[in-house]
Amino acid sequence: MAHVYDTIIIGGGPAGLSAGLYAARSRMDTLLIERAKYGGQATTTDELENYPGSIENCTGTTLSQRMRKQAEDFGVNFVKNEVLDVDFDGKVKVIKCKNDETYEAKSVIIATGAYPRLAGFDREVELRGRGVSYCATCDADFFTDLDIAVIGGGDSAITEAIYLTKFAESVTVIHRRDELRAAKSLQEKAFKNPKIKFIWNSVPLEAKGDEILESLVIENRKTGEKSEVEVNGCFVFVGYLPISEVFKGKINMNDRGDIITDQEMRTNVEGVFAAGDIREKSLRQVITAAADGAIAATNAEHYIQNNFAE
Ligand code: NAP
Repeated sequence: MAHVYDTIIIGGGPAGLSAGLYAARSRMDTLLIERAKYGGQATTTDELENYPGSIENCTGTTLSQRMRKQAEDFGVNFVKNEVLDVDFDGKVKVIKCKNDETYEAKSVIIATGAYPRLAGFDREVELRGRGVSYCATCDADFFTDLDIAVIGGGDSAITEAIYLTKFAESVTVIHRRDELRAAKSLQEKAFKNPKIKFIWNSVPLEAKGDEILESLVIENRKTGEKSEVEVNGCFVFVGYLPISEVFKGKINMNDRGDIITDQEMRTNVEGVFAAGDIREKSLRQVITAAADGAIAATNAEHYIQNNFAE
């Protein structure tokens, strides 16, 4: 008979790792499945100055490594694999992964997070990795002393634009409105930074360049005027979409694919919880992901106590 874990956590970002910490601390037999890098999207940020108590020079990667070690020290089992299908119909939940690996658990915590949205301009996908990027901490170094553009006006775009000025000669933020969405404190920093320029009310239409990006054709949405901006790099930060494909039809979601939970992180399926950016919620931050994870694990424990009493 297959081993039945108390809980299986799918996803090893801040939500999943915090869920693991809380689950293991309450002596639950816990498995965490991650398909790629522990830390998830948090690893793509260099500065985490809004996570309470984060020490100086705390990067998304260092914080994630500490979270993973802490969870491991309390007894979480980790497996690197990709979940291909789930069966939530029975009391014992079944998780099917690549290479015919199957895992079973009394409860499941979905913490699969989100991935960057495309801006939708011509040749965006073709030039990805050849000038077009979605991760400043991964690629900033390639653009040392070069001119780059950042697309978007939210927290991600402005945080990363500021970070990119450490490398680039200039950073031009191209935003579709004339007002940023980012937090005021970030806006103040960006407006003060002499390396950051802004092009307002504009969107990119096309990336140009033979092998690598050489320029962006942009359009002013108010005047309809088109112009060309010469840049070697274009970092796109226009929001994120949930990684929830595998759960479609098995659990309640909204139109975007965000999983719907109550405030206890319970989904509509008994014994299945969701935490972090995968959830329908208003504030997506490391701190809210970590909080979700703690709540999900605590309620998974209550669920097991109430439904699997020996
Ligand atoms: P976001 O808040 O959804 O902002 C997306 C930005 O891209 C907006 O400025 C939006 O313009 C623009 N945009 C959307 N679609 C576009 C398109 N097709 N073409 C051009 N521009 C487009 O996304 P985010 O900045 O990635 O943030 C996601 C979540 O993570 C938020 O909850 C955010 O607070 C959080 N976050 C926080 C931090 C931090 O606290 N330091 C850092 C990163 C992310 P409009 O403004 O016109 O809608």
